[in-house]
Amino acid sequence: MSEPSIHLRILRRDRPGARPYWQEFRIPYKPNYNVLSALMALRENPVTVEGERVDPVAWEHNCMEEVCGACAMLINQRPQPACSALVDALRQPIVLEPLPKFPVIRDLLVDRSRIFAGLKRVKAWIEIDGAWDIHQGGPRISPQEWEENYLYSRCMTCGCCMSACPQYGPQSDFIGPAPLAQVRLMNAHPTGRYQRGERLDAIMAEGGLSDCGNAQNCVAVCPKEIPLTTSIARAGRATTLHSIKKWFD
Ligand code: SF4
Repeated sequence: MSEPSIHLRILRRDRPGARPYWQEFRIPYKPNYNVLSALMALRENPVTVEGERVDPVAWEHNCMEEVCGACAMLINQRPQPACSALVDALRQPIVLEPLPKFPVIRDLLVDRSRIFAGLKRVKAWIEIDGAWDIHQGGPRISPQEWEENYLYSRCMTCGCCMSACPQYGPQSDFIGPAPLAQVRLMNAHPTGRYQRGERLDAIMAEGGLSDCGNAQNCVAVCPKEIPLTTSIARAGRATTLHSIKKWFD
C-alpha cells in the first residue's frame, strides 16, 4: 500500500510576463499541515510527480500566524492566507495559484504594492497619535467604539478582498475594499478626524467609492471577517454629507 501523501497542483511562472504552466507534486502526508508547511516541505525536495527535479516554488510569507497577510494566494480557487489553510480541510489535489488581480513576480509571489498605494491615497494613518498628555484631557474613546474600531484594525493587507472583487484589477482604477475600510477606521479616531475631509475627498475622486459594484465578494472572503460592506455603506453616507457640507461652505 502506498504511503499517504499531499497532492499539490501549482501554477508556475518563471518571471514576470512569462507563460504560466502547471506542475504537480506529491509530498509525504503529515497531520495538521497547513498549505505553508506543505510548501516548505516541498521546497526541501522539489520533484514533480513525473520524477523531474525542478526549481523550488517561490512564494512570500512572514509571520505564519495570519497577521502579516503576505502568504495570501488562490487555494482551490479561494483567495486565502496559506498559513491558515489546513491541508486536512482541503480537497486534493490542492490547487495553488497566485493571488489574482496582482502582477505575478514568480510562481505564487505577487506584487501587492497597489494596495499600499491605495492606503497612502486615503492617508490610512493617524498623524499625531500618541502626542497627547495622557493625564490631561486627551481624546477619549469609549469601549464600545474601540470594540468596533478593533474589527477594522485587524486588516493585514492580504489582498484577498481585492482579488475577489470584480471591480478591482488592472482594467480599473478602483481603490478596492481594504483602503475604503481603513477610511472608516481612521476617520473614527479622535485625532484621525482632523484628516477626515481629505480622506473623504480621496474616495470621492476617480477610482473611489462610486466604482464599487456592491458584489459583496470582499466580505465573503476576508479571513479577518472585517465588515467591509458595512464600512462601504457608511463611507457612502459620509461622502454624501461631506459633499452637501462642501456645497454650503
Ligand atoms: Fe485581507 Fe480582509 Fe484586509 Fe481585505 S480587508 S486586505 S481580505 S484582511
